[in-house]
Amino acid sequence: MLYFDHCASTPPYDEVVQTLSEVMRMQYSNPSSIHQAGLAAEKLVTRSREVIAAALKVSPNEILFTSGATESNNIAIQGAALKKKSRGNHIITTGIEHSSVYECCRLMQRQGFEVTYLPVDASGCIRLEDLQAAITEQTILVSIMHVNNEMGSIQPIAEIGKLLRDYPRIIFHVDGVQGLGKLPVQLKEWGVDLYSISAHKVRGPKGVGLLYCREGVQLQSLYAGGEQERGLRPGTLNVPGIVAMAKAIRMTIERQPEAVEKMLQLRNQLIQVVDSIPELVLNSGRDTERAAPHIVHFSYPGMKPEVIIHMLEESDIMASTQSACSSKDLKPSRVLLAMGCNEARAAGGIRISLAAEQSEQDIATLEAALRIIVTKLKPLERG
Ligand code: PMP
Repeated sequence: MLYFDHCASTPPYDEVVQTLSEVMRMQYSNPSSIHQAGLAAEKLVTRSREVIAAALKVSPNEILFTSGATESNNIAIQGAALKKKSRGNHIITTGIEHSSVYECCRLMQRQGFEVTYLPVDASGCIRLEDLQAAITEQTILVSIMHVNNEMGSIQPIAEIGKLLRDYPRIIFHVDGVQGLGKLPVQLKEWGVDLYSISAHKVRGPKGVGLLYCREGVQLQSLYAGGEQERGLRPGTLNVPGIVAMAKAIRMTIERQPEAVEKMLQLRNQLIQVVDSIPELVLNSGRDTERAAPHIVHFSYPGMKPEVIIHMLEESDIMASTQSACSSKDLKPSRVLLAMGCNEARAAGGIRISLAAEQSEQDIATLEAALRIIVTKLKPLERG
């Protein structure tokens, strides 16, 4: 199988699978128990917190373990909004966030908050002037993703953080899921208050993630339950998942420089392929300052992308339309529409997401399959 869906999920490192099963088997105690076995499990959690904090260059007490980025985003956005409700009711986000942020903001709107969805330019990036203009006395939270999961566009997080330094009462949340391991992450320098991660996007296990919560930032808990994770995420900690996530994050960050170089090479090769097939239009950016190294997104305007996905599948090639979370709903992509693409282009997007372990030969195999598909589909083109 040729797997080109690394934005949706990644294959876990062998070491991660080994750690996961060892900890599951050996350290099954509840880390909140006060007996020796519980303390041993707690020690593993503490150590994992330290490893992750060192990798992200933050303090261990700023890491909250969650079940993944969807939960982290909910705890961050709802938790910050509800905590700050008495000071203001305005949230700023973008029109191209992942559904776990976008739908969370829509929920906040139904609860009486006002939300500004910043527009993006043709490369999928917000303009700082628009952010500046949107800020009011009522603004309590800005939530902007680092790398878009569909298009790979990179938001100017450092500049946004710099702008928000003049507004110390506004909480700055970043959905970091698609940026970690692909781009440098400097939470302290950027002035980020809250940052969400999912382990399975960086070759860790599914169902575990984290929220970086800068010391001093207060959130309202969304759950009734125990005291775990300062009451913000009560419930028995997923010890095997947490230890395995720490391993995955550490290994990913250690390997990042070579991995990025390789992904860029593959990305450039694939962009050349897309450019050379007249029926395909590249949607993701070319400029590596503004486009992530692991995503190539293109459309066959007027052609249903699921037809192409299934034809690729016949050659044992796995790719994706839109994002995995919304790929079953076949409406035009909200992200592409926000970037100014017409409906035909926005409904026809194919996302190829790469990993450093892939080869030039893999891209050549994909190219051959795409050329055959386009030849077969050409007579069916609409209008
Ligand atoms: N944010 C982004 C940018 C994502 O790509 C994803 C996963 N598709 C999530 C949040 C949610 O992560 P999870 O499904 O692991 O909760």
